[in-house]
Amino acid sequence: MKLPLEEIASGVEKKLKIKKWKRCDACGATGARSTGSMTTCPVCNGSGEIRQVSRSVFGQFVNIAACQNCGGEGKVIKEPCQTCHGDGRVQGDATIKVQIPAGVSEGNYIPLRGEGNVGKRGAPAGDIIVVIEEEPHPVFTRNGDDVVLDLLVSFPEAATGGDIEVPTLTGRARLKIDPGTQSGRILRMRDKGIPHLNSFGRGDQLVRVNIWVPTSLSAREKQALKEMKESENFHPKEGDRSANSEKSFFGRAKKSFS
Ligand SMILES: [Zn+2]
Ligand SMILES: [Zn+2]
Repeated sequence: MKLPLEEIASGVEKKLKIKKWKRCDACGATGARSTGSMTTCPVCNGSGEIRQVSRSVFGQFVNIAACQNCGGEGKVIKEPCQTCHGDGRVQGDATIKVQIPAGVSEGNYIPLRGEGNVGKRGAPAGDIIVVIEEEPHPVFTRNGDDVVLDLLVSFPEAATGGDIEVPTLTGRARLKIDPGTQSGRILRMRDKGIPHLNSFGRGDQLVRVNIWVPTSLSAREKQALKEMKESENFHPKEGDRSANSEKSFFGRAKKSFS
């Protein structure tokens, strides 16, 4: 079952329409047209077993095998039910409800006991196994119970700081950008991630800051930038050019994700 991250974060009840084998009501799941249509199997006399004695140099062996004639049931149907042709079950539609707890992951499965196909002639029903798949999200990447968002900010915003609205799994929230925030910096929004499965608390939203560079400039803007370029403060200092600690942190995060 494919689920978007938002539903994984909130938990959800899903209805599934499926086709499955259901009990045949026409014959009460016996497979016989009427109660008189069942007779004791003449091959095994109703025991459902066939015993064969074989002899060898090692001695005498008794083989017990299921009776082929009645399939081990001990009874045979003279006149099968016209609805199910003797199987005691028919194909039908079913709607099942599944409770998906918050915090599930790709590959988790939820067993629905006794909701699967019924067996032949009144045999118990099997289970349905719902396997969780995670839909790729257009803006978030899941990393354990944290979600990672790549955010584009303008150079003036990064340099002077600001208050930016960012998407979250439940809507939108405001994020404070400190003056002098570097590209690649990871900002942590506490408890905005995915709840821990079967436990308390939840992950965080990690926002990676990326400086957006404009691709078209007016003559006036170009002139202003040229002037700034000459300014001492606009040149990275010795050491500023090397990778910052956040980058290696993110590398580790990515590694644990794959
Ligand atoms: Zn039937
Ligand atoms: Zn038999």
